[in-house]
Amino acid sequence: MALGALALTATTAALPVTAGAVEVGPADFTTSGFSAGSVAAQAAAARSVYVNADSNSADISAVQILLTAAGHATDVDGSYGPKTTAAVKAFQTKNGLEADGKVGPKTIAKLGPKVKEGAENSATKAVQRLLNKNGASLDVDGKFGPATKGAVVDLQKRAGLSADGVVGPDTWSYLFGPVVGGGGGGGDCGSVNGGVPQSATKVVSGTNIRVHDCWDGEIAKMVAAAKADGVTLTANSSWRSPDEQKALRNQNCPGATYQIRVYETPSSNCSPPTAKPGVSRHERGLAIDFANSSSHSTAVFKWLAANGAKYGAKNLPSEPWHWSIDGH
Ligand SMILES: [Zn+2]
Repeated sequence: MALGALALTATTAALPVTAGAVEVGPADFTTSGFSAGSVAAQAAAARSVYVNADSNSADISAVQILLTAAGHATDVDGSYGPKTTAAVKAFQTKNGLEADGKVGPKTIAKLGPKVKEGAENSATKAVQRLLNKNGASLDVDGKFGPATKGAVVDLQKRAGLSADGVVGPDTWSYLFGPVVGGGGGGGDCGSVNGGVPQSATKVVSGTNIRVHDCWDGEIAKMVAAAKADGVTLTANSSWRSPDEQKALRNQNCPGATYQIRVYETPSSNCSPPTAKPGVSRHERGLAIDFANSSSHSTAVFKWLAANGAKYGAKNLPSEPWHWSIDGH
């Protein structure tokens, strides 16, 4: 995580944190020791971000959208294959850049046009895709309306940039790469708070696992590594919509009324423990309940215990099947 580039000015929402392992709220994401001065100094320059085959699908998809808009058509599939590399090289050659096929700061500066409120174009689609990766919940419709502008302003504030709602070179550099404003938790995904829409998530290819865009690349690698060791990773549950979380609470938790069951009963009184709507890591796309991992003696659990941390997957000790970005 490029801590030096992150502007840790986001305030943590004062949501209730209830006792019970699966119910720790956003307040557990604490900010750490960067002074306002150092944030301002860092904000003076765009950060150095590189998009390549190891990047998350949101970054790669945004590059593909922008390449296509610039006349170098490539599939928008979130995968940095030969066609994308060739399109990047062609774009670089045309723009007087070194044609190395990698999208670094100089290429991003040329690739991202200035966009602002009122725009209706594919560049705005790329902006929306990247804002959602950074925690927004926008429709990716290419229309730069008030909601998109608000999300841009929010990102600019978190990055310590001038909060004018206009996407120029500096803002583009903060849209790509690690999620802006993280202060803890799980690496690049550290600032994802509350529920995220399905559009901010992705199904890991060849699996039934759907997770946030900040994590799907790592989970894809984890699934492949497990497969190479003869272990198949599939999910009983991964990303959940807020409605699905409410339905689970209604099903798993005691209480005379829907209101009590869904919103009031402590997580620990539910069977199994089920986080209140809004605080579950599942709603963030940052938790996976693995199939065939019901105990600590299963092959799946043992493999994850030995390898999961390499991919940002941490276990909630009371639930052998539940692995999340921070163990909650
Ligand atoms: Zn779970």
